Amino acid sequence: MEYDRTMSKASTRYLPRQSRPGGTRPRNPALRRPWLPAMLRGLRGVCPACGEAALYASGLKVVKTCARCDEELYHHRANRISLPVAAFVALQLVALLMSLAHVAGLAWPLWAWGGLWAVATAALLRPAKGAIVGLQWALRLHGFQYAAMCRPRRP
Ligand SMILES: [Zn+2]
Repeated sequence: MEYDRTMSKASTRYLPRQSRPGGTRPRNPALRRPWLPAMLRGLRGVCPACGEAALYASGLKVVKTCARCDEELYHHRANRISLPVAAFVALQLVALLMSLAHVAGLAWPLWAWGGLWAVATAALLRPAKGAIVGLQWALRLHGFQYAAMCRPRRP
């Protein structure tokens, strides 16, 4: 078959957004989802779309849909990555505290610092997971892409 430039151009119109030259982000500014506010909302434990209803049903379980704006939130895949992220951020904080304690002349045993790291990791699990869910929502990763395609009016 002979190659036709106009035909190939027309055919990209029906490709999913991910395969288009513009990437996953829509050109329409009304449909854009800024990633930083979404991550900050997730950090606070509220829905990344509206920022008002709770993100967690209980513990680390994310709600299926937002109670206020009805945004589907079960598309996230933040279950396995949230623990390493929380542990990494907690390690940075504990290392900073260790340096400050060293300068101040405090000498805690190593197991105490390890315990502090574990406690800090546990405390950071919810904020870390929320921020990752917010990022995945804003970038339309995983099922969020299809949820956004099904509801084009909702940014
Ligand atoms: Zn919401």
